[in-house]
Amino acid sequence: MEQVKVLIIGSGPGGFTAAIYTSRANLQPVLYEGIQPGGQLTTTTEIENFPGYPEGTNGTEMMADLKKQAQRFGADIRSGQITEVDLSKRPFRVVVDGTHEIEAQSLIVATGASAKYLGLPSETKYRGMGVSACATCDGFFYRKRDVAVVGGGDTACEEATYLATLCKKVYLIVRKPFLRASKAMQERVFNTPNIEVLFEHNTKEVLGDEDGVTGALLVHTSGAEKEIAIDGFFLAIGHHPNTEVFKGQLELNPEGYIVVEPGTSKTSVEGVFAAGDVKDPHYRQAITAAGSGCIAALDCERWLMANSIK
Ligand code: NDP
Repeated sequence: MEQVKVLIIGSGPGGFTAAIYTSRANLQPVLYEGIQPGGQLTTTTEIENFPGYPEGTNGTEMMADLKKQAQRFGADIRSGQITEVDLSKRPFRVVVDGTHEIEAQSLIVATGASAKYLGLPSETKYRGMGVSACATCDGFFYRKRDVAVVGGGDTACEEATYLATLCKKVYLIVRKPFLRASKAMQERVFNTPNIEVLFEHNTKEVLGDEDGVTGALLVHTSGAEKEIAIDGFFLAIGHHPNTEVFKGQLELNPEGYIVVEPGTSKTSVEGVFAAGDVKDPHYRQAITAAGSGCIAALDCERWLMANSIK
């Protein structure tokens, strides 16, 4: 069976940063890219808020650069998905694509989270062309324009109030007759004059042309339909962490995110570390994921050293 000292699962900024650090520390990491090589950033267009890119960059290019940077120091980056893990004893047993078995001395989990989408074909069609699941990432492109946010939780309210500082008008499309968000967030929404909350509305179709989103067709619970003219359509209906394979083996919070010891990347299993959105339901930024990838690499390196694992 193949033996690996550091196995990294996931290829977003968290996983690649962990690979850069562990390969520079001569730990010969192996990284499996997973089902979406490059992670969530490959679904966005331009990235303007990652430090060091004064002209901005593109998510796919940034991920390709991070990959090259890790490979430059010898990281072994492979395509493949982890389908099974046994963390009950060390070395950990990991199965790739249901067939290839590996024994890993340590594990860095950076499998990320996926934004939930409504599942409309028109939403898929305009993804990256006006449809986005990250207002912090893409809101800036809709300055002085009209946009809509779908959802009634804290994220939707936070994103709507953020977008309201940039955009002319923000529609908040809420399927229930009330918001699920905290009272404080609700008040912020109701006190922002350029947010219009459309209660009891669902999206039937995202409308657009060859340049991207132009509107949305909404349907009220009464059955009445209405069209709104917008340039941006933001989903804020929650994320799900990619932790299915770790259920019952790592401590997860009620939403399924990996629980780590505060201020570290240490999970409930010694020798298993977590980085990026898979352990972070709050910040979800490329830069915070990259920072936590560095933390995981350093925690892992120190743990291997403390346990004299060569
Ligand atoms: P939530 O699960 O809290 O809210 C999701 C929202 O999306 C709900 O209003 C839900 O509607 C709606 N929704 C779900 N599916 C659909 C659908 N198919 N069509 C239309 N609407 C849909 O997710 P959040 O991301 O908002 O929050 C996740 C966690 O993070 C929460 O615990 C939240 O409190 C926390 N958080 C805290 C923040 C803070 O403290 N600053 C900021 C952001 C998040 P319905 O209500 O009908 O189910």
